[in-house]
Amino acid sequence: MQEFLDLRSLSINNIVMTASFGACLLIYSAYNSQFRGIRQTAYAFFMSGLAFLLIGLRNYIPDFLSIILPNTLLILSMASIHLGFIYFYQLDTRLMRKFHGVMLLAMASSAAYFTYVHNSVNARIIAISFIIGFQCFYIMRTLFMAHNKANFTIGISYLAFGIFFIMRGVLTFTQDNIDDFMTSGLLHSVSIIVYELLVAVTSFGVVWIVSYKVQRALIEQASHDPLTKVLNRRALEKIINVEHSRSLRSNVPMSVIMLDIDHFKRINDVFGHGRGDEVLVEVASILTENTRKYDSVARFGGEEFIILLPDTTLDRASVIAENLRIKIAENDFNFKAEKAIQITASFGATECDLQRDRWLKILERADHGLYKAKAAGRNQVVVCSSNNEDAELLITG
Ligand code: GH3
Ligand code: MG
Ligand code: MG
Repeated sequence: MQEFLDLRSLSINNIVMTASFGACLLIYSAYNSQFRGIRQTAYAFFMSGLAFLLIGLRNYIPDFLSIILPNTLLILSMASIHLGFIYFYQLDTRLMRKFHGVMLLAMASSAAYFTYVHNSVNARIIAISFIIGFQCFYIMRTLFMAHNKANFTIGISYLAFGIFFIMRGVLTFTQDNIDDFMTSGLLHSVSIIVYELLVAVTSFGVVWIVSYKVQRALIEQASHDPLTKVLNRRALEKIINVEHSRSLRSNVPMSVIMLDIDHFKRINDVFGHGRGDEVLVEVASILTENTRKYDSVARFGGEEFIILLPDTTLDRASVIAENLRIKIAENDFNFKAEKAIQITASFGATECDLQRDRWLKILERADHGLYKAKAAGRNQVVVCSSNNEDAELLITG
């Protein structure tokens, strides 16, 4: 009998590990209840811990309890790990349920067949190795679909686990008949250690993807306006510095449009603050939908927005502003079948003088155009060229 890495001690080790990691994840899920799926991973570990307890009792309890049940529990445990990731990313569970259902049936029936009909430890090991291998590959696929570093790293680990288990299955084909799993040799002891690694990597992975998601949400909150979801002022100021350097380097123009909704206070007064908020959201989406994806739309203050247009001349910016002015003026802001609200906005547009302008100067000029548009009766676009401080009235709505 192998004197080190014996299967019974390794099983005990696995029970301790899965129980402690499972308990930690369960507590972690209680404190992070807004994230789904963590609990499923904890349950998965408890299931595999139970499986190893039963495996450790091999030869002391009936075959059903020490062979059929633990093998099936291990497959169920892998399915539960997968379900955890699927829940976390709110993906469709139908296909994975079918897949793991088939795997579970395949395991239960082959374990029963190769125990009661044609007793073969090798065949049982081959079956469970291939099935766990396939499950690892499927989990890997789900992880790769999330396209982030955390998932990619865990996905690669699952690829390695999958390859190991398939190789174990293949190598078991070439092994002599194993009389007793408890004395099956080093390869099978190593496979229990690999399973421990899988538990460790999965636990760490779950914590990693949760923190990754929290971090992303914080970045999003710090740079976006919570109501309209467009950029906030701080984010725009950062972007404008980057775009300014880029424009300077490649000697391309850059323009800015500033707009302010006309008589917005009245909308709040007449229709309520809630309707006012809805108007802001809709205006923001008109701005986003009618600009290019590398333009930056930001909410600058209450009902004031700024659009940064890289690689855009003042002429082009004035056309874009006019188009936006018409889109807003012609839009029916009708909320839930109530009477439609008509609104307008005033625009100031300017081009950045890349050599001379600083951020505040550009803003000042756009604001000056906007002020003129308001003074001239609202619902219009006024452009200010960088070499002519006197605003030029361009369009009257
Ligand atoms: P003008 O045509 O001169 O721009 O008139 P105005 O009424 O749009 O301008 P004013 O600056 O007097 O009013 C802006 C209003 O915008 C006042 C404020 O209550 C409202 N406001 C600012 N932020 C929000 C918001 O987040 N939601 C809503 N509903 N209203 C807001
Ligand atoms: Mg206003
Ligand atoms: Mg205003």
